[in-house]
Amino acid sequence: MSETIVDTIIIGIGAAGLLSSIYLARKGQKVLCLFKGLGATAMSSGCFDILGYSYKRSDWLSSFTEGYNDLPSEHPYKILSEGDLHQLDSILKEATVNLGELFDKFLYGNYTKNVLIPTIFGTIKPTAYVQVSMKNAILREDTDMLIIGFRDFYEFNPRLIAHMLKTALKVFDICNIRINYAYLKTQSSTTFPKISLETIVSEIKSILKHKRTDIILFPAIFDSIETVKKIEKELNIHIAELPSTPAYRAGIRLNSFLVNLAEKYGVSLIHADDIKVDLEGRRITRLRVLSHNRILEYKAHNYIIATGDLLGGGLELYTDLISGVAHIKETLLGFEVENVSIENLTKQDFFSRNGHKLSRIGVRINNSARLVDKNGKELVKNAYFVGSIIGGYDYNVEKSGLGVVLVSVWKAVNEIFRGE
Ligand SMILES: Cc1cc2nc3c(=O)[nH]c(=O)nc-3n(C[C@H](O)[C@H](O)[C@H](O)COP(=O)(O)OP(=O)(O)OC[C@H]3O[C@@H](n4cnc5c(N)ncnc54)[C@H](O)[C@@H]3O)c2cc1C
Repeated sequence: MSETIVDTIIIGIGAAGLLSSIYLARKGQKVLCLFKGLGATAMSSGCFDILGYSYKRSDWLSSFTEGYNDLPSEHPYKILSEGDLHQLDSILKEATVNLGELFDKFLYGNYTKNVLIPTIFGTIKPTAYVQVSMKNAILREDTDMLIIGFRDFYEFNPRLIAHMLKTALKVFDICNIRINYAYLKTQSSTTFPKISLETIVSEIKSILKHKRTDIILFPAIFDSIETVKKIEKELNIHIAELPSTPAYRAGIRLNSFLVNLAEKYGVSLIHADDIKVDLEGRRITRLRVLSHNRILEYKAHNYIIATGDLLGGGLELYTDLISGVAHIKETLLGFEVENVSIENLTKQDFFSRNGHKLSRIGVRINNSARLVDKNGKELVKNAYFVGSIIGGYDYNVEKSGLGVVLVSVWKAVNEIFRGE
C-alpha cells in the first residue's frame, strides 16, 4: 500500500475546501483535497452573502456591521472573531484582499457593503458579492429592466417574475425601477440550451424595436460569463443573469472556477469513495482512502474538514421512530452532533424569520476553528472544521452562507501557518 505525506489534507471540494486549499497552496504548502462529489456550493446562486438580515430588524442590512451585535453568541462569526466586530472586519478584509482573482475578477462587490439583486423567484436579496455576469442586475434607482425568457423554459417565467418583482420593489421601498418582460420564440430545448447566439441576438433586437430598456435580465443558462459578455457586445446593452436555484449554472461555475484555481496552484484533487480516519488520542494520524478500487494511505501535519452540512454529506441524520428522536452525526469522525425531538423538527416553520433548528445544526468549534464538545473542550488537535458543517447559524434566513465559509477558512489557514 502506497503512503503519501503532505502538509495539509482537506476533505471536501465545496467553497470551504477549495478556498482553504488555494490559500495554503499559494503560500507554498503541499495540499491534497479528497472529495466524494459536489455539495451545496454547486447548488448555490453563486453570490457571496456575508450577512443580509438580522434577527432583530425587519429591514435588510446595508452591511454586516449593522447586524453583528444582534447575532447570538454561538454564531460562528461571534466565535471566530471572539465577539469583536473589528476582528471580523479584519478577517474578511484579509481573506478578500488575499484572493483578488476571486473577489476582484470573478466576483463583483465589496465585503463591507450589501447590494440588492432580484432573483428568479421575483424576490429581492441582499448580498455582498455577485458574479460579474449579474452585476447589471443590481438594483439602481431610475432604471428600466426587461426580463427575457424562453417560451418552453417553464422554470423561468418572465411574466411571473415581473409581477412578483413589482410587489417586492414596493416592499423594499424602491419606486422608480420599471419592469417589463418578453419571451423569445426560440425553443430552449433543455435547461442549458445549445441555441445559437445569433438567433438569440436577432430575436432580442426585434423585441427592442418595441420595448425600451436599460438592462436585460436573463436566466443563468449560459455556460460561461464570456457568452453573456458576447451577447452584451452584440446588442450594445447591459445584460445580467438572475440568481436562481439548482440546477443552476452560476453555482456550478463558482465551484469549477475554484477547482481550476486550486489546480493552478498545484493542489491535488483525489476522488474518495470512502475514507477511514485513524485517531490516536486527540490527533488524526492517517487516512485510509478507497479511490477507484484501490486503498491509499495519506498522512499530513494538518487536516481540514470541509464536508458541508446535511446537503454536502458532512452531517447525517438518523431517525429513531420508537424514541421519537433524530440523531445527527458528523460523518467522517463519527462524532454525535445533536439529538433532537422529531416532533420539534417537523413542527417548526422552515421559513420562520428566526431560522430553523435543522439549519442551525452543525459541529461546535472554538475561535481557532477546532472541534469542541459542549463544555468547550478541544476534541481533535490537528483538524480544523470549516464551512457549512459548523452549527449555530441559519444561512437561509441570515444570508450568510459563503461569508461563514470565508471567515472559518481564513481562521483555519492562519492557525495552520501560525503552527508552522
Ligand atoms: C440552494 C442553495 C442556495 C444557496 N445560495 C447561496 C447564496 O446565494 N449565497 C451564499 O452565500 N450561500 C448560499 N448558499 C449556502 C452556501 O452554498 C453554502 O453555505 C456553502 O456552499 C457551503 O460550502 P461548503 O464547502 O461548506 O460545503 P459543500 O459545498 O456542501 O461541500 C461539501 C464537500 O464535502 C464533500 N464530502 C462530504 N462528505 C465527504 C466524505 N465523507 N468524503 C469525501 N468528501 C466528502 C462533498 O462531496 C463536497 O465536495 C446556498 C445553499 C443552497 C443549498
